[in-house]
Amino acid sequence: MVSGHESPPSGSQSPEAARSDGKALDAYEERLGQGVRDFLGAGPLPLSIGGREIAVDRETIPVEDPAQGAVVAEVPAAGRREVDQAVEAARAAMSGPWRRMGAHQRSMTLHALADLVEEHGETFAQLESLDSGKPVAAARDYDVAKTVEFFRYFAGWPTKIEGSTIPGPGEHRLIYTLRQPVGVVAQILPWNFPLMIAAWKLAPALAAGCMAVVKPAEQTPLSVLYLAQLLREADLLPPGVVNVVTGYGGEAGAALAGHDGVAKVSFTGSPEVAREIVRAAAGNLKRVTLELGGKSPNIVLPDMDPAEIAPEAAAAIFLNQGENCIAGSRLFVHRSIFDDVVAGVRDSADEVRLGPGLDETTTMGPLISAQHRDRVLEYVGAGAEAGGDVHRAPAGDRPPGGYFVEPTVITGVSDDARVAREEIFGPVLVALPFESLEEVAARANSTEYGLAAGIWTHDVAAAHDLARMLEAGTVWINTYNETDPAVPFGGFKQSGWGREHGGEVLDQHLETKSVWVNLERRSRGQGELR
Ligand code: NAD
Repeated sequence: MVSGHESPPSGSQSPEAARSDGKALDAYEERLGQGVRDFLGAGPLPLSIGGREIAVDRETIPVEDPAQGAVVAEVPAAGRREVDQAVEAARAAMSGPWRRMGAHQRSMTLHALADLVEEHGETFAQLESLDSGKPVAAARDYDVAKTVEFFRYFAGWPTKIEGSTIPGPGEHRLIYTLRQPVGVVAQILPWNFPLMIAAWKLAPALAAGCMAVVKPAEQTPLSVLYLAQLLREADLLPPGVVNVVTGYGGEAGAALAGHDGVAKVSFTGSPEVAREIVRAAAGNLKRVTLELGGKSPNIVLPDMDPAEIAPEAAAAIFLNQGENCIAGSRLFVHRSIFDDVVAGVRDSADEVRLGPGLDETTTMGPLISAQHRDRVLEYVGAGAEAGGDVHRAPAGDRPPGGYFVEPTVITGVSDDARVAREEIFGPVLVALPFESLEEVAARANSTEYGLAAGIWTHDVAAAHDLARMLEAGTVWINTYNETDPAVPFGGFKQSGWGREHGGEVLDQHLETKSVWVNLERRSRGQGELR
């Protein structure tokens, strides 16, 4: 059963139609600053390789504003040739000043990078909102603010990367370790937090002294290309240390993942693509870290006040239009308070203001593309077909042509329904009642994913019991969706390999070299000292 209201508008503009009228940015009038207009107005955007702009005169990728379904920019569709060029530039930089630079200076460079993002923060926020659809306030206060935070946190690391001295077999041996950068890192990004996830990967790579080739998602290349432009203009890094190639996953992404000049791939995206990357990486056995999807359980124990918890549960799923790997998409509520919590979550969903991200009053923007909107709506339909009670919030007054999906709450399905098992990656919550701790832990863990989980209770013992039982890389107790550059982040099971953030991500960018010195073997000249 579907309650709520009508379907979203289906007639979004085709990229071709939008490109021909050229008016997509005019719709925003003064809401769009000069920084964005200058950046996008300069014609087709270039790649950034070896510290230079590289134009590609072949195919381009149209970049859409998902709020209008209209093309706002075009970026190069890099192929193997440009990927080779970028990897070559990065490898050439390995023997340049970045690797030899003193730790203090590298730290200062990362602080300068943070300053650069901060200084142009408003342009970054508007670009991110225009490109991904997210509310500009969220882009400003979360994506851009976190990007700055990540560069600053990792600016503190170069001066703390230390080896050790090890006693070894006896006094005539000096054994020590050096920590050295792994080399060129390919950073393949998703479209949901384009700039922030670029910072998740760039900041530790730079702190470790690595070189990067960044490939943004084809849907959202703008903020990373803007960062590349600022880096070129500021001349902050030696040429080749950070290179940006835009392109389709199956071409530019696959070429990077399989490239023998790349030492490590850091990937964030879907498990399906992760499998292809692992296969491609096998050629030179490059290091691979993977940050993948989730179907995260958010668990409410019976001692909680439904009125207090419902808005928290709604925020856990609806942040970033639900296009969030850690979204609390399975809400488990103790049966005794289930109806009240669900009613409150529905109320919160109804209060969401759907609209263009660049409208300051919008609290939820459109989804990333027509294709993704259709995929999410297909899941909503599957929820109804599985016998679910589907509540869709009112659509409100939003412009035609965008890829909007109303916040949706589904109840009355079993754990094995597709909507309760598969990652939807949209504003769709499945709420499920439970009776006991052991039962909910088993059901929460009964998924191929293991990225995150939430627990809401004042019962300290129950909270810590559950935290121990849950198979998830992050467990939040009485909070949700918090991340910090110092706190390890990643997934159990098919949610990923390795951890980002903190010292753990740094380790993944460093090789440890053990150096053995035989102190008994002296030069002839030294013999005279005895
Ligand atoms: P995706 O896997 O479709 O694409 C991610 C990136 O991989 C893009 O840059 C794409 O161009 C590239 N790619 C595609 N095919 C490739 C190939 N054959 N070889 C190399 N690269 C290729 O993912 P998406 O749709 O952009 O993002 C959504 C997914 O990302 C969701 O599953 C979400 O949960 C996950 N995600 C995870 C995290 C995390 O930190 N765990 C964060 C954000 C998103």
